Amino acid sequence: MEITDKFRRVCPALACFLPGLPSHCLLYCFRLRNRAQSARFGTSIYSETVNRVDLSTRPFKVFTDEKEVEADSLIISTGAVAKRLDFPGSHEGPGGYWNKGISACAVCDGAAPLFRNKPLAVIGGGDTAMEEANFLTKYGSHVYIIHRRNEFRASKIMRERALANPKISVIWDSVVVEAQGENGALSMLKVKNLKTNDVTDLPANGLFFAIGHEPASKFLEGQVATDDDGYIITKPGTVETSVPGVFACGDVQDKKWRQAITAAGTGCMAALSAEHFLSGMVHETNGHAAH
Ligand code: NDP
Repeated sequence: MEITDKFRRVCPALACFLPGLPSHCLLYCFRLRNRAQSARFGTSIYSETVNRVDLSTRPFKVFTDEKEVEADSLIISTGAVAKRLDFPGSHEGPGGYWNKGISACAVCDGAAPLFRNKPLAVIGGGDTAMEEANFLTKYGSHVYIIHRRNEFRASKIMRERALANPKISVIWDSVVVEAQGENGALSMLKVKNLKTNDVTDLPANGLFFAIGHEPASKFLEGQVATDDDGYIITKPGTVETSVPGVFACGDVQDKKWRQAITAAGTGCMAALSAEHFLSGMVHETNGHAAH
């Protein structure tokens, strides 16, 4: 049983998960084949949003708008969504530069031709911002980290690496208040210094939000243990959650690696764990029946 609708929203270019691969179609086809493979082995796939679950007793209950599904084991792979900022020019569609220079994933989009040898900016002061800024120096002419405070929360090693990189400059105590463009692509940021309220123009052809992710775990309503940010806690080295029979894989339980290959790896672990769990249940039932 698989309910996939809360699966993370992938970037429009599916190749975002596997940068460097030559063909977007390749990945799209791969996904379709994965789906067909599941169906061939008897999986029922419902493309519906899960609103609520009841994990208090087994079988667990999963509620969508249209269905109530029962399951002896559950795999949660609902992912996490990168947070975005909202200011004039940050949106999609006319007058906005989302996907036309603005992105929330440097690793996915940073190698695109529109960023090559151009000034780029990253917003944030955590490990992601440091990592993305360093990564972007491979492609951009210069990278600006724009941070709302005057210190980074990033780990020492990550921030030191960023600060030592001659292609990175930090704009402290500042926020972006507007994005402007030319010929339909981002070209300029208006940056406000929060201490002086001065607004200055910063030429930038790329802007990357690195302000954290939000795991899609609200629908669990606290029935599975999560950390303060809502990421499902799994027992180290496993995909076991606080509820026996409920397994979590992918970005909803991973705030560090967040890559397709790591998600796929934990997905495999979850599938095998669920199978072992169910086999154990059958064994238990047979054992009881014998007595
Ligand atoms: P964090 O929550 O650590 O950092 C988010 C950053 O964005 C903060 O500096 C925050 O500012 C800033 N921010 C948040 N909201 C806004 C806003 N509205 N406007 C402007 N700035 C904002 O998220 P990360 O994604 O960086 O890291 C998440 C976790 O993943 C961490 O535990 C991190 O260690 C881990 N990680 C580890 C990596 C590694 O080890 N290789 C790589 C990437 C992530 P402020 O500081 O002022 O709150």
